Order: sequence, then structure tokens, then C-alpha cells
Amino acid sequence: MKTKVQEQFKKHYGEGASVYSSPGRVNLIGEHTDYNLGFVLPGAIDKAIYAAIKPNGGKLCRLYSVDYDQSIEMDLSGDKPKEQWAQYVYGVAKEMEKRGKKVEAFDLVFGGDVPLGAGLSSSAALESTIGFALNDIYGFGFTREELAKIGQMTEHNYVGVRCGIMDQFASLFGEDGKVIRLDCRSLEYKLEPFKPTGCKVVLFDTMVKHSLASSEYNVRRAQCEAGVAVVAKHVKGIESLRDVTMDMLDTYKGEMEDIVYRRCSFVINENQRLLDACSALEKGDYVTMGQKMNGSHEGLSKWYEVSCPELDFLADIGHNTDGVLGARMMGGGFGGCTINLVEEKVFDAYVSDITERYKSKFGKQPRVIDVVISQGAHKII
Ligand code: ADP
Ligand code: MG
Repeated sequence: MKTKVQEQFKKHYGEGASVYSSPGRVNLIGEHTDYNLGFVLPGAIDKAIYAAIKPNGGKLCRLYSVDYDQSIEMDLSGDKPKEQWAQYVYGVAKEMEKRGKKVEAFDLVFGGDVPLGAGLSSSAALESTIGFALNDIYGFGFTREELAKIGQMTEHNYVGVRCGIMDQFASLFGEDGKVIRLDCRSLEYKLEPFKPTGCKVVLFDTMVKHSLASSEYNVRRAQCEAGVAVVAKHVKGIESLRDVTMDMLDTYKGEMEDIVYRRCSFVINENQRLLDACSALEKGDYVTMGQKMNGSHEGLSKWYEVSCPELDFLADIGHNTDGVLGARMMGGGFGGCTINLVEEKVFDAYVSDITERYKSKFGKQPRVIDVVISQGAHKII
């Protein structure tokens, strides 16, 4: 894709472009913890958006999307473009202008190999690539953290997706063989080693759309807030589930609905599982890492109830296959992918077994996406 983007730039706009890339991401563990101000553990992957870019000295930007095979002209002092793929580019530039920088017109060609809408955050990869590239060619001096916020605000203000900051953070801060323990309360982060020698990370896409995701998401948020409110009546300084321990939750269990208790205990336990997983990674203990992933799935499915039959089916096969260290649903739930940590020696057999069984049960082929934890945003040429 890198070469293709360069060739297309030459063809459309000529010589002299700089080339940048920024990747999609996976989240190893820590689901539904972000809005409860807990931890997440994402890593950048070896699938990215590539962009060739050069200032053009004119008034209008010229953009070409390789994957949509569309080109447009875009006026940064005019309205946002109607093509969604261009709105990300426009939004990033506008967010930079809000922060006091003048973005002069440029030519841009981009494309990528992050599957769209599969839960690997192709959109964050796109924003991060564009943000990183503009910052570098114009010497704006934004930090990676500021670029992550610019990406997040692009989604909020120009695409209409009220996302958190994990995806942009992972895309910008990722490193080879390292995952990022991000504290969603302080935005402090710590890189944890992730080099599972003899193992692979593979995702299976259920190909199910997340139709319940946004309504159920709001219900879960309200249930978490209800649990926090009960504990906060008794204990000073409780602002989110991050401040609540299992002991506190158990003490005031009688004052909350059972379902609220179940939701809150999932979140508290998921944070603890993530911290335990990080200790395991620091020791190179991938067996424990996998067990924590399995525990995460169990909690998401039975206590937080955001799974679906397709995700449970895939995770369950993983849990019952020798050599599969961990398997869990990834993302908000009700569809999307499972993420699996699998020994290389059983890898091929596992992939074909799960593909066959999924096909005969649900009548469709799961998409198989293997990933390697890789470097975040960088300049290529
Ligand atoms: P995801 O979960 O992959 O982030 P989104 O719906 O948030 O899914 O973002 C997908 C959108 O991002 C696409 O509809 C498109 O507008 C843009 N996008 C992502 N990858 C590309 C690409 N390779 N080329 C052009 N646009 C892309
Ligand atoms: Mg997205």
C-alpha cells in the first residue's frame, strides 16, 4: 500500500511528497472501563493508513483516496466536504486551526489496509496519519497527546461519533512489541512488553453489525452511574467506579438493584484483571495473560451482558481448544470481533476449525485478521 500511495501521488500531483503512516489498534483487555475512568490495554497493529502529502502553494487542497478511487478539491475556509473519508482530513485541519495554527493548502493521497468498521479503528488510523503528517510538514509542534485529542475531536465535531481517546492514543503512541496501559482518568500511560514468542494474535470478525450497541451502551452507563451514586452516599470522594472497591460495592449491595451490582462488579473486576494481566506481561507469563482474557469474556458475556451468540460461540471454541491461551470479545459488544492469543503450532488447525464451525452454525464466513503489535505513527520518507 505504501508504494501504491506513492505511485498514485506521482500520477496525480507529481514529485516530492513526504510519506507517513499510522496504524489501527487492538485492545487486549479492559472493555467498558474507559467511561468508568479505569484502564485499557490497546496496542498498535501492523495494518495502517499510508499518506503521501505535500504543500501545494495554492488555495485549495487536492485529495485522492486510493481505496475509494475518488478525488476531490477541498477549501479549508469553506464548508466540510460531503465525502465522509474527506471529512476526517478536513476535521483534523480545522481542529489544528482551532488551536492557533494556519494549515496551508496541500495535496494528499492516502489508502490503507485496516479493515473498515471491523473494530480495529480505521478512522483513528486515518486521523492520526493526517494529524501526524500535517504536524510534521508544517512544523506545528503539537505533541502526540495533542494529536490524539485533535483526532478524537475530529470524530466528535466533524463526523458525529462521540468516541473516547483510546484508539487515537494507541495509533500515535504504539511501539513494536509493546502495548499501552492507558489510565483513562489521568491519561497517564505505561508501555508494557508484549512479545508472545511462539504465539500469534488473531481476530475473528463475526460479520454481525452492532445494532444494539448504542442503546445498550447508554443503559450500561446509567447502571454504572447508579452504582456510583449509592456508594457515594456513604463514602467521601467517590466520583466514578474507579474509586469503588469490591468491598464497598458488597457493603452497599442491598441498596442497589441486582443488575446494577452485576454491572458494577464487572467493571471493578475488569480493571483488576487488566492490572493482573500487566503484571503477567512483565513476567513474560502469557498463560496468565490468556486466562485474564478468558475471564474478561466471561464477565462481558454473563455479568455485563454485552456479548451475542456469535461472539460467545467463537470465544467458547477458543476456551476449549488446546493451545489457545486466551479468547474474548473485543470492543463494545453485540457484534464485531473476538481477539485470540494462539500458539503457532495449533494456529492453522484452529483457524480452519473455527471457520468451518462458524460457517455451519451461522451460515456465513468469519473474517480472519491476524495482527502483530507494531509501531505507531511515523514518517516513512
Ligand atoms: P472503524 O471501526 O474502522 O474505525 P468507522 O466507521 O469509525 O470504523 O470508520 C470508518 C470510516 O473511516 C470509513 O467509512 C471512511 O470514511 C474512513 N476510512 C477508514 N479507512 C479508510 C481508507 N482506507 N480510505 C478512506 N477512508 C477510510
Ligand atoms: Mg472508528
